[in-house]
Amino acid sequence: MTTGSTGLYALAAYMAAGTALFLGVACIFLLREMRGLHARNHALELERSALGEMQARVAAASEAKSRFLATVSHEIRTPLNGVLGMADLMLDTTLSPEQVNYARAIKTSGEALLNLIEEILDFSRIEAGKLEISAHPVDVAELIEGVVELLAPRAQGKSLEIAADIAPDIPALVRLDGARLRQIVMNLAGNAIKFTDQGGVALRLRLAGSRLEISVQDTGPGIAKARREAIFEEFEQEEAATAHRHGGTGLGLAISRRLARLMGGDVTVQSTPGKGTCFTLYLPLEIAGPAREAAPLPELRERRVLIVSAGPFEGAILARHLAHEGASPRVAADIDAAHQAMAAARPDLLLIDAAFGPQACLALVQKAREAGCARHLVLLSPFERRAFGAPAAAGFDRYLVKPVRHRSLLAQVGDWEQPVSRGLEAAREVSLLGEPLKGRRLLIAEDNDINALLAGKLIEHLGGRSVRASTGVEALALLEASLAPGAPRFDALLFDVRMPELDGLSAMRVWREREASHTLGHTPALALTANAYAEDRDACLTAGFDGFLPKPLERSVFVAQIEALLSGSRRAA
Ligand code: ADP
Repeated sequence: MTTGSTGLYALAAYMAAGTALFLGVACIFLLREMRGLHARNHALELERSALGEMQARVAAASEAKSRFLATVSHEIRTPLNGVLGMADLMLDTTLSPEQVNYARAIKTSGEALLNLIEEILDFSRIEAGKLEISAHPVDVAELIEGVVELLAPRAQGKSLEIAADIAPDIPALVRLDGARLRQIVMNLAGNAIKFTDQGGVALRLRLAGSRLEISVQDTGPGIAKARREAIFEEFEQEEAATAHRHGGTGLGLAISRRLARLMGGDVTVQSTPGKGTCFTLYLPLEIAGPAREAAPLPELRERRVLIVSAGPFEGAILARHLAHEGASPRVAADIDAAHQAMAAARPDLLLIDAAFGPQACLALVQKAREAGCARHLVLLSPFERRAFGAPAAAGFDRYLVKPVRHRSLLAQVGDWEQPVSRGLEAAREVSLLGEPLKGRRLLIAEDNDINALLAGKLIEHLGGRSVRASTGVEALALLEASLAPGAPRFDALLFDVRMPELDGLSAMRVWREREASHTLGHTPALALTANAYAEDRDACLTAGFDGFLPKPLERSVFVAQIEALLSGSRRAA
């Protein structure tokens, strides 16, 4: 072996040893790295299972929340049943126009509360992707005027004007989801009142090409440009301090826009800070009936009408409607301007807003009388009515309650000879059904005294008689007693589902068995329940009820059900 080759071998040996060392070190590193990776992998696995667990917990919490909301809504509906039903019964008695207004306010406020409960439930349903939109013929003009009337006490309580402006070409019926539309408009108009401290709110309904356009305009603080989109996000509100002052959750606009989009439309906003805001709801227009019938009012043709109103909207709206009827209206924004207008041309009809106070109104009316204007109408809110007193004693001919319904205005100016309360009286619900329960005897099983009284009165109003039980046990005892020879039988049964001792479902099961085993005839029976879900309905039918009445007990629904049931039983008998 030469020295040269020995050197080469040594070099090769060194290199091999070096490589082995390097590989060894690399292996150690790799092993460490792999162990680290393994540990990380294990940690990730743990995290994943924790995440899965968390997801399951979130799902369970969401389920619990839905159940909680359903239970709370049930509990609130029951007393609301009493409030709404009693208001209904009160409206059926002889009341003064002022009392009619109060009773209607109780009813409409109760309905608003019901609406709120629905809204909370809706949000959870929207969140879960479970909300469905339906479509049926709706009188949209009536709906908008109804919302304005419902919100009027709230607006008038803040000295705000509230007015509805319905375009004359709006069809009588449009196919859409009325409940959802009402919900959106209530929310937009409710916000407008909430955020406005001076001036007023106008709800306008008009056709815009192939769309229905409903706008809610206010004279409130406006919304900064940068915030105009953000407010449609969930839980978005203005600065905390102001939001606290106004209350609210920041959910309303998010729900409204989602509902509008589900209905094929949208909600947009325009606003001028310091001047006001206008939210506009667009919906596809699907006409479901003939055009609205307008009775022409020849009395108004070419009549000069002077409207004295300081509010931002109502004067102009009334003027436009009267001009549409052929009159020549003029609006004066204050008493001085009214005197000037009257000096320039004698009006045939004077409409004056009570907001100017009894003295100023009376002075203007007297001046108008002297000038030969025999007709005048004082527009007032129920609050103002108290200050003004009875029209004759106060020196006025007629009052017209604000917010003015287009129909009432025309009825008042077109039908001068009738007493002033007629417009209000006509609006009262009148049962056209006669006495469908005449000669009938019903058994009411209901533990809640108010609800029992309500159902009993309803039956009485429909011509029938009723006997009340407070529990399922009592109901069964009364039914048993009715089987005695010569004892009067029951023509129909109304059982509340939830009752102490023995609930309605169990009581009905017992009674149906009794009927079957003793070959007794089938007594028609309706279940009363505050739970409006399909599974409750099924439970009622399975227990032997023939029908199901959700609470709050709606008079028209009750009449329709009980009539169908009794006519069915007559046929069967
Ligand atoms: P909430 O009214 O419960 O706060 P909304 O979603 O209805 O929730 O409204 C979100 C926010 O949009 C409000 O907090 C308010 O800042 C703003 N907003 C809504 N309507 C108006 C309005 N008419 N004028 C001024 N600001 C408004």
